[in-house]
Amino acid sequence: MTIIYLSSRGGAPAASFEEALLSGLAPDGGLYAPSAWPDLAAAAAPGLAYAERVRLTLSAFAGEQAGEEAAGAFGGFHHPEIAPLREIEPGLYLLELFHGPTAAFKDLAMQVMARLVPAALARRGERLLLFTATSGDTGAAAVAAFAGAPGVSLCVLHPKGRVSPIQRRQMTTTGAANVLNLEIAGDFDDCQRLVKTLLADATLKAPGVRVSSVNSINWGRLAAQLPYYQAAAGALGPADYVIPTGNLGDAFAGWAARACGAPMGTLTAAVNDNAFLADALATGRLSRRPAVATPSVSMDVAAPSNLERLVFEAGGRDAARTRALFEAFATQGEAALGEDLRIAVAREMGAVSITADEADAEMRRLYQASGLIVCPHTAVGLAAARRLPPGPRPRVVLATAHPAKFAEHVTAVLGVAPAPPPSFAAIADAPERFTPLPADYAAVRAAVEGSAPSS
Ligand SMILES: *Cc1c(COP(=O)(O)O)cnc(C)c1O
Repeated sequence: MTIIYLSSRGGAPAASFEEALLSGLAPDGGLYAPSAWPDLAAAAAPGLAYAERVRLTLSAFAGEQAGEEAAGAFGGFHHPEIAPLREIEPGLYLLELFHGPTAAFKDLAMQVMARLVPAALARRGERLLLFTATSGDTGAAAVAAFAGAPGVSLCVLHPKGRVSPIQRRQMTTTGAANVLNLEIAGDFDDCQRLVKTLLADATLKAPGVRVSSVNSINWGRLAAQLPYYQAAAGALGPADYVIPTGNLGDAFAGWAARACGAPMGTLTAAVNDNAFLADALATGRLSRRPAVATPSVSMDVAAPSNLERLVFEAGGRDAARTRALFEAFATQGEAALGEDLRIAVAREMGAVSITADEADAEMRRLYQASGLIVCPHTAVGLAAARRLPPGPRPRVVLATAHPAKFAEHVTAVLGVAPAPPPSFAAIADAPERFTPLPADYAAVRAAVEGSAPSS
């Protein structure tokens, strides 16, 4: 049975995988959900090669051809298992997702996207203009993946002085003609606002040219994140998972892996001082507050966009209710889940909020006990895992980035610098290319002019 894609708000026509992949958001503002959750228990069997899990999973969601394309996406990884497990204490594991080209978990999905997207564009005779605002990891993973990709132009906006030097170098040293880096004199919110304006700018659209964004609401990205849960489930059997969370993309992928038959226990989203999700699950109220800056910068998200997917599923796929809730939240910044829906969502996923001080203390504790250094995001996950009541199952914390990506903070906390991963050496001395600009739409629009991909 071929899976098609439905909007969580029920107001858009069903889409093919390719349409969902290339457009991201559904036209009614909802998020795409597969028409059924396929049985992928075979992809979570013990001992399978990682690429085979990817092939099985993407074949089910996107067809066999896409499954084959996706399985070949892991040549740039520095570990034979791609996503290895490391037992750090009896029954406590890190699932290491930082062995890709830019040393953060976003590589695992973005490398797959960069296989699927150019192939889909070629089949349709289209070209794609991709925009992304980044606080570091997304932009770096997107540049590494899409540099040189046929039919694609990628424009990345990063806030000046607010991404780490290594993150900036990862974005600015590819030399690829299809990548435009804009350094914005402003903060991440300015970059996001500029990207929103770009995406809505009709003058950028031309016949055969799509304008889209690479962010974690894209179903293609989420589908490519199931295999590392399947790998862990294959190795350990049912375990409880703790996922450092920003937009809830990674955590929702865990929910989807479980829905597709991977043997898994509970799921807990670990958030930092941006406690929106923990508050929502405790009180039933969605309440937007400005994001606060923390050392786990990739999780500094005011309101997680993929919560809509979890609400849609937990509420029995009630599109009318999902639409009413998230439209109210978008316009008023406030909405109430209702007690029945709060309980239903909390049954699917827990949430724990960890302060910056607690995460730093966890980083120190682990280093003193075992000499192991983790990144600030992983530290939030570990601290959350220790907060959970004891249980019979092993516990897995997703290690979402290499600590050397956040060397400044880690060194300040531990007094030692983390050793860089192999991928950093190649870009250490490469020349950087980026365009400094004010946080001003006219200036950004002018810089983007002419960057659309030529056929
Ligand atoms: C993006 C990111 C996260 C958060 O992932 P979501 O899918 O947005 O929840 C966590 N840790 C790191 C290192 C990241 O780059």
